[in-house]
Amino acid sequence: MELVFKKELSSEDLLKIIFEYTAKIASETELKRVLVLMANMGREMILSDRCTVWLIDEVRNELYTTVAHGVNEIRIPFGTGLVGSAITTGESIIIKDAYNDPRHNADNDRKTGYHTKSIITVPFRNNDGEIIGAYQAINKLTEVDYFTERDLELLSLAASYAGKSLESVMLHQEIVDTQREIISTMGEIGEIRSKETGNHVKRVAEYSYVLALALGMDVAEAEVLRTVSPMHDIGKVAIPDAVLNKPGKLTDEEYDIIKSHTKIGHQLLKGSKRKLLSAAAIVAEQHHEKWDGKGYPNGMKGEDIHIYGRITAVADVFDALSAERVYKAAWPIEKIEALFREERGRHFDPDVVDAFFRELPALLEIRSKLTDVE
Ligand code: C2E
Ligand code: FE
Ligand code: FE
Repeated sequence: MELVFKKELSSEDLLKIIFEYTAKIASETELKRVLVLMANMGREMILSDRCTVWLIDEVRNELYTTVAHGVNEIRIPFGTGLVGSAITTGESIIIKDAYNDPRHNADNDRKTGYHTKSIITVPFRNNDGEIIGAYQAINKLTEVDYFTERDLELLSLAASYAGKSLESVMLHQEIVDTQREIISTMGEIGEIRSKETGNHVKRVAEYSYVLALALGMDVAEAEVLRTVSPMHDIGKVAIPDAVLNKPGKLTDEEYDIIKSHTKIGHQLLKGSKRKLLSAAAIVAEQHHEKWDGKGYPNGMKGEDIHIYGRITAVADVFDALSAERVYKAAWPIEKIEALFREERGRHFDPDVVDAFFRELPALLEIRSKLTDVE
């Protein structure tokens, strides 16, 4: 096999790469894609065969990265491997032949059939000078088949150019994660209040997600619904215990009080401009609306009801019927199916009911996985 070596780049070539990538990175809002773009930029600048950008997850005490063509993150314990030691010590590491270095772990090569020879690992810092991650590149593709001080400088340069965007994307991610945590905590509060058993909110979340995907919703939007659907009953926090947990039929008056949980939930959440919280406000308000206009609180009809509300309605009732409540026993599946057939186009959006029947095996699997243990 003839080996074709690459030639080191000219300054103009380098500038071109830097311009191209920093523009792309600056307009990117997703952390995964920023990491992949940074890795590709590094790989092109120093002519390596592979390149990865690692970041520190302080909460989990791990290092993580995303690879270009996989969806999954790779995670390793903090402090392990060459990346770990570069990040811990703040020193770059250049290795000419991995097989002569005791720090190299050859297991991966054995598994993948890939041959690692030269390696460079360069830690990088944020604006406050704290180390936040590292570049790692493998196998130099020039005739001189190892990395040099110049490569080290170039990778540091790549990191400093991409650093600002990287930090703002990480900050954005932090904010989204915070919203998620607040939302799931609030959902749990609502659940405890109405004495529903442990996994109820989780089941409604997973049912909603499966139904959303089955209806052709894109993954990002379906994930928003998965995050917010557990909040649909948050308004129940304001309903008196005696009513909420009454072990029998409700009077009309009591039922009216319970119905107000939709308005209350909406009221609690609607002030926020945040994407997740406003989606949660919609679900809280609309999950008892009915396709035929006979639901509450506003008697909305058909597609005027937000798709999040129409999906959560099905997920919610499926779970309410499946479970025992203070006021009713759990229903057998045949009776549940009969109700959904009956209410298709009345209570529920016919498309969502069709998705429900298509996905029933998956829904039942979720139900048995997230079963409530007494
Ligand atoms: P939930 O227990 O989570 O029930 C959610 C929804 O599932 C109900 O909304 C209803 O659409 C459906 N569902 C639940 N159980 C049954 C049932 O036995 N038959 C039928 N056909 N559908 C059922 P809905 O009716 O708007 O009720 C809202 C909430 O009001 C319920 O949430 C529950 O917290 C409370 N609630 C409703 N009826 C009673 C009752 O008779 N006694 C008590 N203590 N609470 C009730
Ligand atoms: Fe509700
Ligand atoms: Fe509910």
